[in-house]
Amino acid sequence: MIKFFNSLTRKKEEFKPYNEAAVNMYSCGPTVYYYPHIGNMRAYLFMDNIRRVLKYNGYKLNGVMNITDVGHLTSDADDGDDKMLVASQREHKTPWEIAKYYTDVFMNDVKRLNIDLPEHICPATSVINEIIEFVEGLLEKGFAYETSKGIYYDISKFKGYGQLNDIKLEDKLAGARIEVDEEKHNPADFALWVKAPKEHIMQWSSPWGMGYPGWHIECSAIGRKFLGDHIDIHTGGVDHRAVHHENEIAQSDALVGHKVVARWMHLEFLQVDGGKMSKSLNNIYTLNDLQKKGFDPLDFRYFYFMAHYSKQQNFTFDALTSAKNSLKNMKNAVLEHKNGQNALGEDKIQEYKNEFLNAINDDLNMPVALAVCQKLLKEEKSRDVYNLMMQFNEVLGLDFEEKGEEIPEEVKLLAQQRWQAKLDKNYALADELRGKLVSSGYAIKDSKEGYTITKL
Ligand code: AMP
Ligand code: ZN
Repeated sequence: MIKFFNSLTRKKEEFKPYNEAAVNMYSCGPTVYYYPHIGNMRAYLFMDNIRRVLKYNGYKLNGVMNITDVGHLTSDADDGDDKMLVASQREHKTPWEIAKYYTDVFMNDVKRLNIDLPEHICPATSVINEIIEFVEGLLEKGFAYETSKGIYYDISKFKGYGQLNDIKLEDKLAGARIEVDEEKHNPADFALWVKAPKEHIMQWSSPWGMGYPGWHIECSAIGRKFLGDHIDIHTGGVDHRAVHHENEIAQSDALVGHKVVARWMHLEFLQVDGGKMSKSLNNIYTLNDLQKKGFDPLDFRYFYFMAHYSKQQNFTFDALTSAKNSLKNMKNAVLEHKNGQNALGEDKIQEYKNEFLNAINDDLNMPVALAVCQKLLKEEKSRDVYNLMMQFNEVLGLDFEEKGEEIPEEVKLLAQQRWQAKLDKNYALADELRGKLVSSGYAIKDSKEGYTITKL
């Protein structure tokens, strides 16, 4: 049985998809206006974690992620400038060039982290018609109104507003009035569509003149287009819970007349040196920054597994180094089991499988899943251990067998000659050959059954 914590009910619940044929999953994706940092990557590792665990349990996935390439203002409320336009001015490129460039950067990062990508990846600018239809639907149903600035969602019309954050609608409406826009009915009403001034670069024609979508509507429209009116899981970082996701619920549920998303899953933030990652503290790191310091992207993937997603995780280079070492040891241990001659036994194999499954199915308890792997790797050298680890790796995604990095033939030959020298009790030659292996970048480890070659 899989159990996930649902932010909506604030309980750990048994997971059951609406339709057994496939799990409908929506993940809020990146705003492609700048280099994604490793905090962002934690959000996509979280998405990957859910996807792989569901697949491991035999589910088929129907996943969607949006790419925000229009409409996300510098403040998540409706203030500030569109992040894409700010970037466009900063880099003297069109918003389209900015979107293309940073989407490529993002895709390259997630690929290097072995992130299992959703079946559909959808830029907001490719669903403008769907967004307009969605807004028209909300206007028809009386949940939206027009002002001189655009089309706004009237939160007082949606009784469930505030449910995700356990805030009563009356309290939300009674909130301090610091509103500057006199035309809005309630301060927390938000833009569905913005009427664009002539000089605005990104704009489309609509029943309300030229304009562009608000930020929140893209997720409701994209979710509906690819997943329909029943979404099993919706993921995102905790920062989106208070405004963006509350607004998504208001839009989607109001249009279709029932609860669209069954489960909301939120990831806690990655902190740096115990504090926030921020430009002013100069502590924002990208995957490239880590690589420049000698880390592999998969070291960061292992680091992700060391904390539960619902807890803040503190990033330090010491912690990343410890992840790197653990991953290296794990990889070597897995390979040492590859030629192991002992049998683990059916009962033990089953026991380990259950322990691993129970850990991942207990709301993605990856630290416990790692502990199960560590215990397993301490068993006598056995091909069964290797096989189990390869199976668990469908969830871990850690590349135990280097892709395309086969051990070269001449290294294998040296290792063979050294083993023979040992058997012949010619220890001087054996040592000399070991030295040659080390200077070629390979280590050799002996066991009762034979030897294993690993990269240094
Ligand atoms: P953005 O591109 O700003 O829309 O953010 C992309 C994703 O990264 C969102 O799901 C955010 O919640 C998430 N995110 C941003 N900062 C962090 C952080 N420090 N730790 C974890 N997730 C984050
Ligand atoms: Zn979203």
